[in-house]
Amino acid sequence: MKRIALTTALALGIGLTSYAQTAPKAPAGPLSGPFPKGERAPVANFTGVVYVATLVKNDDTFNCASSNVTFTPGARSHWHTHAAGQILLVTEGVGYYQEKGQPIRRLRKGDVVQAQPGVEHWHGASPRQGLTHISLNVNTEKGIVDWGRAVTDQEYASFR
Ligand code: MN
Repeated sequence: MKRIALTTALALGIGLTSYAQTAPKAPAGPLSGPFPKGERAPVANFTGVVYVATLVKNDDTFNCASSNVTFTPGARSHWHTHAAGQILLVTEGVGYYQEKGQPIRRLRKGDVVQAQPGVEHWHGASPRQGLTHISLNVNTEKGIVDWGRAVTDQEYASFR
């Protein structure tokens, strides 16, 4: 019994050691949810203060780009489309998602959004609580994002 436990512990220990040697070093800096908060997003495409950290760099093998995006209260993206669609995985907070011509949908931790290819939409925080989501841009060989105009205060305030 003791021998089995010891063997298991040794195997696990060796496993963890080899993992630690091969795993990429976690980037320094503050987290937002389980992943890094990153840097300020370009002001040209967002209203308010937004942070973005690249998690997966787009390449020809995966054709997928992933980021951790943090919207401070009131912050949101401009209207935009993704030629190949986008998946959002909400990890923290409360926010909004809206497709053109549809009511605003409230987002909470654990929500999954599938923005269909070419469907105009925006996403962001609620007025009083921030939102953090992971974005997955898939099939990036078809395009990643095309930016439009800012979401007006009137549009943003239309949540019911
Ligand atoms: Mn989007």
